[in-house]
Amino acid sequence: MKYDVLVVGAGPGGATASYLLAKAGAKVLTVDFKREVGSPVQCAEFLPVQISYSFPEYFPEDSVAQRVVDMVHFTPWGEVVSIPSEGFILNRRVFDKNIMELACREGARLMLRTRFLSFNGEHILLEKIDTREVIRLKADIVVGADGSRSKVAKLSRGSYTRNFLTTAQYTVNLLRSTQDLVIYFRDYIPGGYGWIFPKGDWANVGVGIDPDYELNVMHILKRFLEEVRAEGWIGKEVVYRTGGWIPAEGIREPAVRGNVLLVGDAGGFCHPITGGGIANAIITGKMAAQAILSGELQDYEEESLDTFGDSLRRAAQKRLKYMKRWDNLKDIIPKTWIAFDEYWK
Ligand SMILES: Cc1cc2nc3c(=O)[nH]c(=O)nc-3n(C[C@H](O)[C@H](O)[C@H](O)COP(=O)(O)OP(=O)(O)OC[C@H]3O[C@@H](n4cnc5c(N)ncnc54)[C@H](O)[C@@H]3O)c2cc1C
Repeated sequence: MKYDVLVVGAGPGGATASYLLAKAGAKVLTVDFKREVGSPVQCAEFLPVQISYSFPEYFPEDSVAQRVVDMVHFTPWGEVVSIPSEGFILNRRVFDKNIMELACREGARLMLRTRFLSFNGEHILLEKIDTREVIRLKADIVVGADGSRSKVAKLSRGSYTRNFLTTAQYTVNLLRSTQDLVIYFRDYIPGGYGWIFPKGDWANVGVGIDPDYELNVMHILKRFLEEVRAEGWIGKEVVYRTGGWIPAEGIREPAVRGNVLLVGDAGGFCHPITGGGIANAIITGKMAAQAILSGELQDYEEESLDTFGDSLRRAAQKRLKYMKRWDNLKDIIPKTWIAFDEYWK
């Protein structure tokens, strides 16, 4: 079997690349080891509004749980800081699936329950998870869109992302309806923050911490849930539990090696402090597709670094410089979080 492009991973980055490539007539195979695209969800599901301007077809009604307007920050020193943050709380299960369906409608082939194993000389090895059958195929180009612990990145570039945020999140009943993204900075959430992202009558309530502090993220989540429950935000019903690893070191170059391009979390295009990565995955998926279609793969390296290099590098440096000590939060948080003027100095 021979394809123009093999895309590993059917998250927003991989599905976007598949969609645009297939639309332009390329022969594309997308593989994912999940049983169902978009499930299980490992995300707080906020996406800034801007993506809807370039990809309106990504937003059928049921892919959006609700709209949000501002991001409101509760600091440990009592200050409350609000900034505009227009966007959507998605139903990512529907959102991711819809992008991949668009790709398939344009002719991309999707194989689920299929794991990328390795490059082996001229061939690529995949494994059908249910039967353990190993498939050998050829593709001119590989897009690694296989998320934060990307095997494609490891094998093509020789290195994994090493620094992560550890997260845990429950979806619970929301008692105070809001159009705000709610962020809490607390001394017991080291190197990260707690969030309440509203989904109508429900909310994704989670914490992300720096694993270097060697604390149990579940204990921290439970403490956070107790705090925000006591404040009247949420009730006791829990309908979903999730978590995961968010790359926190910025882009690990190169994003292109030979005929392999890394997009989204696989390339480290996730914000090392906020943990936001859906928009960047979609944008890098698009950039990779354009570079492939133009026949100039190196354009992807240049364009992705031009667009994201400085801002993600800056955030990664701030994380290393300020967030490995969690003792003077009134000093650290304004320097490391985008809502404060200090961050931009
Ligand atoms: C708890 C949590 C909350 C978050 N909240 C937000 C948020 O509110 N907003 C935001 O913008 N970002 C958020 N993020 C980050 C966001 O989820 C990611 O940045 C985004 O999903 C990256 O998209 P992607 O396409 O690069 O990778 P992914 O969405 O991770 O998709 C990668 C795909 O590759 C597949 N895969 C992996 N390895 C293989 C393999 N060897 N073979 C085959 N398939 C493979 C996986 O099954 C997966 O489907 C959050 C992350 C976590 C963990």
